[in-house]
Amino acid sequence: MPVLTRLIPSPVVVDIRPGALNDLAGVLADQRISSSGKLAIAISGGSGAVLRERLAPALPSAEWFEVDGGTLDDAIKLADAMKKKGRYDAVVGLGGGKIIDCAKFAAARVGLPLVAVATNLSHDGLCSPVATLDNDAGRGSYGVPNPIAVVIDLDIIREAPVRFVRSGIGDALSNISAVRDWELAARERGEDIDGLAAAMARQAGEAVLRHPGGVGDDGFLQVLAEGLVLTGIAMSVSGDSRPASGACHEINHAFDLLFPKRAASHGEQCGLGAAFAMHLRGAREESAYMAQVLRRHGLPVLPEEIGFTVDEFVQVVEYAPQTRPGRYTILEHLDLSTDQIRDAYADYAKTIGS
Ligand SMILES: [Zn+2]
Repeated sequence: MPVLTRLIPSPVVVDIRPGALNDLAGVLADQRISSSGKLAIAISGGSGAVLRERLAPALPSAEWFEVDGGTLDDAIKLADAMKKKGRYDAVVGLGGGKIIDCAKFAAARVGLPLVAVATNLSHDGLCSPVATLDNDAGRGSYGVPNPIAVVIDLDIIREAPVRFVRSGIGDALSNISAVRDWELAARERGEDIDGLAAAMARQAGEAVLRHPGGVGDDGFLQVLAEGLVLTGIAMSVSGDSRPASGACHEINHAFDLLFPKRAASHGEQCGLGAAFAMHLRGAREESAYMAQVLRRHGLPVLPEEIGFTVDEFVQVVEYAPQTRPGRYTILEHLDLSTDQIRDAYADYAKTIGS
């Protein structure tokens, strides 16, 4: 009997709209999430306090846990605290990327489902099967189950600093380059490409690329938030980060590793990396259009716009393939020398204009 369809690991609830937090208690009371109301809610000590005050009256049986930061130790501490306190139906991560990553890891450790309530859109990790946590060696990616529910209140997103939204834009747009790298690896190396995961990730990136709106309007934020959620699910479908991570992310990791103190945001570096990678693969018009859109949203397209010299950028691009051994992208394919990277960059800068 052939397998006719496949099941996709995905959240049972996705609620993205202005005012979504007002109905959070109702979402959590869903029989599939928490019929008893016994929830462990992880929040940040600082900005989390206001949200806690607002939401606590509607969630009388919930226990609240303050999370210090985004390290592996913080996540283990959270898991231990939850184990000591009692039994819960589910864990709720309420906050930015660090809180959600900590909650994801802790939930996996205590064997409970996770509800992600994102208060900013800084990257595509809010609904992905990966928890990114700082550890003794720098930073690690830990495989975890995908969240059981995702809630994003666009009113809250608009209140967060605009740099978070910008970072999410860069991360979403980089999907377009990442999927092209995946196709290249399939062509050149015979790597399996998952067409559904590629379609989801590419459409998320294209929707953000083509949307005429900006960081301040709900229509655009809706598309961006949905795009980031679909990208996370695309990673669950393929079972790795391929749909959303290619040369763009290798360049981002190289910035982080070579210049840990001066690195810009994840999305700023990924967006710049994607525009440059598109140029490298000969897609000059697409690269120039991506750069134009990044600029319109206030994102950098040249290294000096985030405080790096051309020489430093050349160094970053040269080092990038080492950040992700085994991942075949346009960087590994071209295997450029230092001088060739320098020439390619000069051509990129000229093509996108200043
Ligand atoms: Zn990313």
